[in-house]
Amino acid sequence: MKIAIAGSGALGCGFGYLLQKNGEDVTLLDNWQDHIEAISTNGLHITVNGKEDNQKMTICKPDELKEEMDAIFVFTKSMGLKPMMKKIAHVIGANTKVICLLNGLGHLKTLEAYVEKKNIIMGTTVWTAGIDAPGVTHFKGQGPVELQNADPNEKEAALEIVKVLKSSGLYGVYSEDVNYTTWRKACINGTMNALCALLDSTIDKVFASSTIDSMLTGIVSEFSAVAKLQDDITLDVDETVAYLKDVASSVGAHYPSMHQDLANNRPTEIDFLNGAVAEASNRLGIQAPICQKITDLIHAKEDILGIS
Ligand code: NAD
Repeated sequence: MKIAIAGSGALGCGFGYLLQKNGEDVTLLDNWQDHIEAISTNGLHITVNGKEDNQKMTICKPDELKEEMDAIFVFTKSMGLKPMMKKIAHVIGANTKVICLLNGLGHLKTLEAYVEKKNIIMGTTVWTAGIDAPGVTHFKGQGPVELQNADPNEKEAALEIVKVLKSSGLYGVYSEDVNYTTWRKACINGTMNALCALLDSTIDKVFASSTIDSMLTGIVSEFSAVAKLQDDITLDVDETVAYLKDVASSVGAHYPSMHQDLANNRPTEIDFLNGAVAEASNRLGIQAPICQKITDLIHAKEDILGIS
């Protein structure tokens, strides 16, 4: 299968590497010149679940790819999705499947402006990854990668991608309700990411704080109200808070990605998490004051750090 990875940062390199090892014809696409040069010159240096490897991989800028792909995995940050879709429009054919595993809310709508719904596959992943230097990444996890076709009639297409992910060791799983999984994942990011970034602390310390219960209940109640009204998804607040505490205790002394973004002077995905909930709540005629305040505070922090 001819596969492009549109946005070959931490997760993109990990997926691209394992797909290529499985025999797929993979091209990494990216705009970061130092990263492109490092991989072109030295190969991708990657550590997967503790095992180091160096793999020759094809990488170029999005507009340099000329042929239509069978499948494209998008792995930009949320705010990079629209600009990337504009740059890869020429390699999206009538049957090119576009698979989106980004964190955050609202990506299906963005994709629908560039790809026919029948070709869109949405999902979530619990693999984690990071970039140590240009061309040097690490990738960790055991899955699952949950996927579902955006068009209800296209289950076969999603099952085909699930099969490829499974045989690549990426633990693809077909999801019967990926919208629910996406909202649940957004609750993780909208609580752990946002709070750890604002409080400049690791997950274990934030979750041991005396006010954690009211913070979690407040944020999750707002996510739950919007999920119901906008997407008819039921997120039970108490069950979700218990789930978040379980996840936090298994992750422990870790700085989540939003904290790392600020530490590396990079913009956060807050507008696609708490910001998306606040924006939707205004549109739906309800209130999400906690999510709005968290979004404002994160943007203030970006301003203070000079991040544009
Ligand atoms: P990333 O920041 O590693 O890469 C995204 C883009 O930013 C890539 O094009 C990359 O080349 C570019 N980039 C990264 N560092 C750069 C730098 N210093 N200078 C210039 N460009 C740079 O993003 P990611 O961690 O792969 O995440 C992609 C999506 O997947 C996001 O929506 C994220 O929330 C989600 N996600 C990430 C993880 C994870 O553990 N990394 C886990 C689950 C979901």
